[in-house]
Amino acid sequence: MILDKDIIKNPHPTLRMVSSDVEVPVSDETKSKLKEMMEYLKMSQDEELAKKYSITPGVGLASNQINIPKRMLVLYIKDEEKPFEYTIVNPVVLAKSTGMCYLGNGEGCLSVPDKQGRVLRHKRIKVKALVLNKETDEFEEKVLTFQGYHAIVFQHEFDHINGTLFIDKITNNLGDALEI
Ligand code: ZN
Repeated sequence: MILDKDIIKNPHPTLRMVSSDVEVPVSDETKSKLKEMMEYLKMSQDEELAKKYSITPGVGLASNQINIPKRMLVLYIKDEEKPFEYTIVNPVVLAKSTGMCYLGNGEGCLSVPDKQGRVLRHKRIKVKALVLNKETDEFEEKVLTFQGYHAIVFQHEFDHINGTLFIDKITNNLGDALEI
């Protein structure tokens, strides 16, 4: 089980590393690590469990945040009609919109506690990756398009695997970007 104490905090050097590709086929060990990461996000969004284990709510986690500098990440947003849930390995960005957006409340990060700030993100982003199929428990190559809030969460985590933190990008020059 991953707890807050397992999440490395800025300025830990691993947060600044460019993560390396995950070896394919994905090993069982890597798969179970990804499942632990997803479990963390799910528990963190369950009020009772979050309180019980005193874990901080999060909607995304990149593996270098638990000190494993590999190109893999999990996304989970419960507060939707159908939960937004992705376990992603070796993502490659295929295309991104010129239109930009930002989170009106500002972004935060489990690895940078007590900081928030507005960051410009692409409104839409198209990605190719190995994605875990929950039904078969196998990874499949997929092309995914994320929009709006989902796109913001993905870009935040994708930055992590390239050693970039949201605090590097905080800006007040939001231009005509869409507030989300
Ligand atoms: Zn983060």
